[in-house]
Amino acid sequence: ASADVTQLLLSRIRDVPDHPEPGVMFKDITPLLADPAAFSALTDALAEIAVRTGATKIVGLEARGFILGAPVAVRAGLGFVPVRKAGKLPGATLSQVYDLEYGSAEIEVHAEDLAPGDRVLVVDDVLATGGTAEASLRLIRRAGAEVAGVAVLMELGFLDGRARLEPALDGAPLETL
Ligand code: AMP
Repeated sequence: ASADVTQLLLSRIRDVPDHPEPGVMFKDITPLLADPAAFSALTDALAEIAVRTGATKIVGLEARGFILGAPVAVRAGLGFVPVRKAGKLPGATLSQVYDLEYGSAEIEVHAEDLAPGDRVLVVDDVLATGGTAEASLRLIRRAGAEVAGVAVLMELGFLDGRARLEPALDGAPLETL
């Protein structure tokens, strides 16, 4: 993204201290979504990454990855596939468990939505520890599809999600706006 776009996007992200729990600085993108110029610029920037990486499908991570990923898919002329928290999808799923700081989490995808021949770009708002994105890459590969990359609005550098994600990326790019 150009410096102007980066500035616009940054100006529309709200830092909310101690949400959802003490010690977390929550990056709230709702001001960005409510601003049509910013939301459109974000969609353009992510769609450009989708085209450049040769993606044929967009995977959005629940929940804000749905809001960002769906318009990117439409703008780039690609299909959209939701990766959801366990127990939400009605059809046959592939599921992946991953570690959190305390405990674990599980995400799922409809098995029939991804297949060999697909090249998938994963979209989300924030890369924090990288655990969710890493698990989504495992799902994509287990479905037989290829990874085009991961594209996020923000990366919380101090959590080093990039390092956690690197082996699962296997050479595919992690793009941060
Ligand atoms: P992680 O698996 O740790 O990379 O967490 C990524 C998921 O949690 C993403 O779907 C983000 O939307 C959300 N998330 C984690 N930390 C934050 C934060 N500080 N502000 C906003 N969202 C966050």
